[in-house]
Amino acid sequence: MIVYLNGEYVPHENARVSVDDRGFVFADGIYEVARIYDGHMFLLEPHLQRLRHGLGELKIRADIVDQIPAIADRLLDENSLRTGDATLYIQVTRGTAPRAHAFPKPEVPPTVYVATKPFKLHPDAHWNDGVAAITVPDTRWARCDIKSIGLLANVLANQQAKEAGAFEALFVRDNVVIEGSHSNLFAILDGELLTYASCGYILTGITRLLVVDKASEIGLPLREQGVPRERLFDCSELFLSGTTTEIMPVVKVDGRPIGNGKPGPHTKRLIGLFKRWIDEDMAAATAGHGGGARRPAS
Ligand code: PMP
Repeated sequence: MIVYLNGEYVPHENARVSVDDRGFVFADGIYEVARIYDGHMFLLEPHLQRLRHGLGELKIRADIVDQIPAIADRLLDENSLRTGDATLYIQVTRGTAPRAHAFPKPEVPPTVYVATKPFKLHPDAHWNDGVAAITVPDTRWARCDIKSIGLLANVLANQQAKEAGAFEALFVRDNVVIEGSHSNLFAILDGELLTYASCGYILTGITRLLVVDKASEIGLPLREQGVPRERLFDCSELFLSGTTTEIMPVVKVDGRPIGNGKPGPHTKRLIGLFKRWIDEDMAAATAGHGGGARRPAS
């Protein structure tokens, strides 16, 4: 695999960053993951917008963002990824400088890493039969809108889910279930489609934005609000949204079934609609309109 690192295209095994890189030392950087279906970069523009938002919040130069479509394009060719499923991974850190908390002075160039990789889908059963989740306390900071590479709380929560035989850990903050360790959460409760409002407590998922944008096609009134913990088992359906997760039914939480323990009708319909939205985004990009979801809040 060929990857991009700081202006060069190099074999993955030769890509090296310094031990003084602030990403290594402080997790002082952000990342982005987009999905590539048959060479088409799905919703790339909103992903780049979110990257710009994060860099702006961290006060890291964002001029590289405009070059990413061309870099990704070249990587797709270098790595023969014009067909099939792949992911685009982007990471930008504040760069390399002797360890000191405050920003380096004079400013150093950011470290920029871009990689494309074939993506192995989860087993079909995850979408067909649904997955299990657990609830965990949300121990994260209040700027989860920044897609920070500091993912320790998410890593620990996800590991806890794996050890419990579950796919996802759902963070609970102030008795409200807000999102997963690597996905957003939607619920159907009292005939409404609920998802936590975009703010510093969640990552504004690009897939979440798409579902919110298309809520009228789903035929349910949307309310941007989380699910109270005590009402979780009153939900008729729960599903996750994410770049690699797509739309995935959750049928069990903490060992108890959601609804009848099977993917519900709305979630199943959404999985079908999602495929259509990918095709629409591809068609829009071919026609030169760019694609997709509304821009993330900045
Ligand atoms: N929340 C968190 C904490 C995540 O890590 C992710 C995946 N990046 C998401 C939500 C879903 O975001 P997206 O739809 O942009 O992949």
